Amino acid sequence: MLNRQQQDQRPNIVFIMSDDHASHAMSCYGSRVNATPNLDRIANEGIRFDNCFCTNSICSPSRAAILSGTYNHINGVKSLRDRFDGRQVTFPKLLQADGYQTAMVGKWHLGHGGEADPTGFDFWSVVPGQGEYHDPEFIEMGEKKRFSGYATDLITDFSIDWLDKRDPERPFLLMCHHKAPHRPFQPDAKHMHMYEDVDIPEPETFYDDYEGRSEAVREAKMRIDRDMDDLVDLKAYPPEGLTPLEQKKWRYQRYMKDYLRCVASIDDNVGRLLDYLEDQGVADNTIVVYTSDQGFFLGDHGWYDKRFMYEESLRMPFIVRFPRAIRPGSVTDKMALNVDFPVTFLDYAGVEIPEAMQGVSLRTIWEGGEPAEGWRTSMYYRYWMHLDDWHNVYSHYGVRTERYKLIYYYAEALGTLGSKEEKRTPEWELFDLQEDRYEMHNRYGDPAYAAVTAELKQELRRLQLAVLDEPVEEVG
Ligand code: CA
Repeated sequence: MLNRQQQDQRPNIVFIMSDDHASHAMSCYGSRVNATPNLDRIANEGIRFDNCFCTNSICSPSRAAILSGTYNHINGVKSLRDRFDGRQVTFPKLLQADGYQTAMVGKWHLGHGGEADPTGFDFWSVVPGQGEYHDPEFIEMGEKKRFSGYATDLITDFSIDWLDKRDPERPFLLMCHHKAPHRPFQPDAKHMHMYEDVDIPEPETFYDDYEGRSEAVREAKMRIDRDMDDLVDLKAYPPEGLTPLEQKKWRYQRYMKDYLRCVASIDDNVGRLLDYLEDQGVADNTIVVYTSDQGFFLGDHGWYDKRFMYEESLRMPFIVRFPRAIRPGSVTDKMALNVDFPVTFLDYAGVEIPEAMQGVSLRTIWEGGEPAEGWRTSMYYRYWMHLDDWHNVYSHYGVRTERYKLIYYYAEALGTLGSKEEKRTPEWELFDLQEDRYEMHNRYGDPAYAAVTAELKQELRRLQLAVLDEPVEEVG
């Protein structure tokens, strides 16, 4: 146990997480489509991770992984339909038990009522399900309340209100989870006219024809030109007289502008929270994280949404400011995972890390060091849902190394909630990210990659067993 004085010096943690904010829509990650000056403050004054990945690219499962430090087959949230059992060990619970003041404000998305309500927090106020952008309802400590205003502003207001009431003698954990920029995008009045006279650049893979890749990729219902619900997602139909190609371009512009307007509000509000911490004189001893539960396709491969193990969806933005320990302007290409976050927070708080947590502390990386035992050079991913009602993505798992990615679309439900019991033909995809950073050329079956493929299959198996998951029967 730490004595009182040591406890007082433990860092505060402000964990800001948005929903579906891809790193390629952040200027600190080199965005071509927008600027995020306040998010860039975190990166410029701290560290930027260029290879932070989620273990399952979808909302609830990633949130469960972050709370528990475990993969989805362990924490029980494999799909959007699973509720998180709050009786399991989570990092907020451990911090709370060790003297931290804890709060959770914003999007929870892990179920409600009974064992699914947030646990481990002195205060919680969360939006039900996906939440609403305008005049949203919150569930505050079990009680439903509706507020007038915009979700991103309100979540920040409630976060600051709670910080105002804190005991300045004890460290705190604030989880500030924005509902934005989740579909369908609804900007606030302040940002409604941003980008009006601007043409948003199209991504390199906007006209992907999926040639040579899997049926899973071709059958996914995530195409901007074909699958988007115009009225829900765009609040309008394309104007009369446009060719199919012009319609696709029109949809992209409309979709992206609303998305980026929602992101602009997040950026403003993150700035407000950073200013508050500075005004309070606690910035130096506060870890500020900005991340998103997964990445997102911003027209990449002609798609919207996420789920696939492809880079744009797999990669999470992850930037951290902690002036006491992190050198400003740090950048790392070391591989981090969402399951590492809780382990790192516990490490900094001086709380014993439970054996069951499957992540690794990022502390050495944050502080610019090289871990004595080396660092991971590969990661395991699994998307459990299969042929869900909306996106039709096939279940898959895979391994990503520093250079390669091997994906196995095993393509069956295996009892996962929110899936269809229709088995499809299993398939593989192999990408050489060094030669093909946009994952356009499937090298699986190419004799030149036979040795690499064999190694990757072994690595996949090793990782899968290491995280206590089980392979399905593999073909090919
Ligand atoms: Ca999400």
